[in-house]
Amino acid sequence: MTSLSDLPLRSNLVGKEPYGAPQDPVPISLNVNENTHPIPEAVVEDVVASLAAAVRGVNRYPDREFLELRGALAGYLGHGLTADQLWAANGSNEVLQQILQAFGGPGRSLLSFTPTYSMYPLLADGTDTAWVGVPRPEGFALTPEFVTAAIREHKPDIVILCGPNNPTGTPLERDVVVAAYEAFDGMLIVDEAYHEFDAERESAVALLPGRPRLLVSRTMSKAFAFAGVRLGYLAADPAVVDALRLVRLPYHLSALTQAAASAAIRHADEMLATVADIREQRAHLADALTVLGYEVHPSGANFLLVGGFADPAGVFETLRARGILVRNLDIPGHLRLTVGTRAETAMLIEAIVELTPGHGAS
Ligand code: PMP
Repeated sequence: MTSLSDLPLRSNLVGKEPYGAPQDPVPISLNVNENTHPIPEAVVEDVVASLAAAVRGVNRYPDREFLELRGALAGYLGHGLTADQLWAANGSNEVLQQILQAFGGPGRSLLSFTPTYSMYPLLADGTDTAWVGVPRPEGFALTPEFVTAAIREHKPDIVILCGPNNPTGTPLERDVVVAAYEAFDGMLIVDEAYHEFDAERESAVALLPGRPRLLVSRTMSKAFAFAGVRLGYLAADPAVVDALRLVRLPYHLSALTQAAASAAIRHADEMLATVADIREQRAHLADALTVLGYEVHPSGANFLLVGGFADPAGVFETLRARGILVRNLDIPGHLRLTVGTRAETAMLIEAIVELTPGHGAS
């Protein structure tokens, strides 16, 4: 058997680790920011009926331009968007990869503000794009002055602003997006994977008119409770969509994916009904952990970044032994907790109470 180090791997991949959040079959999985609520039965039935109809046509390739789905996504986003401003792929990870394939590459760079989504540097490596990670200011919130200074200093070709930011939960303000756009003449991506949980802020989709270098990335993996289907999407100028068409693989969205996603969007209201409950649990979990003395960072997403753990790796293992999986991202003293159902939140709080010095049963 040969090993990775024996292979003529591209030099910028040598020594790198693949994306690897643990996938343990534990009862309470709160580590990858899924929506832990099951999708409503009536929606399941409509999705199944749509899949059954699609299966009858799978001897043919699917619609390469997936126009029905793009029209449905445009309708869902609103703001007068049309199908030619929408694009989609197998998860927003693939959308982001296609953006880097089209606008990044050798001699070009991608800048974002760390800590942020761990796939950005991996996607940069995979497309031979240089990665520039600029540490966020204290408290993690970005300001127009901060992003403008970083962009002017590093002169990137592509910038990603993640709002709300994974893993900190930090909301992204509109004036930061506008300032970033004006600070350079490259492509600005706003990654809104968690937008639906941030009811207080308007989507950057509202900023698209007159900004052809602005790309707003969204996903059905989080609020829509559709992570297993793999459907991420993008709203941008039609010319950006034309660019992505140059790098996508032919027929990259299967007929089954298109059918399932179109059916789910028909039921957007029912699919998103759990968002209010998750926001309520987020507030409840934040309050409970604050009372216990932990530092809970403000979050507009379906997770909380929590500081004040003397031994995050130890707490991670203790919770895992109790069947609760959370995320240790190696931010000193911190863990990231996905907000689940009412019952899951209650069990998580109970487990943390027990391991908190001075509060537990021991
Ligand atoms: N962006 C962010 C900020 C994320 O947290 C995630 C998933 N964890 C993604 C994009 C990718 O999600 P998906 O490929 O499932 O759409």
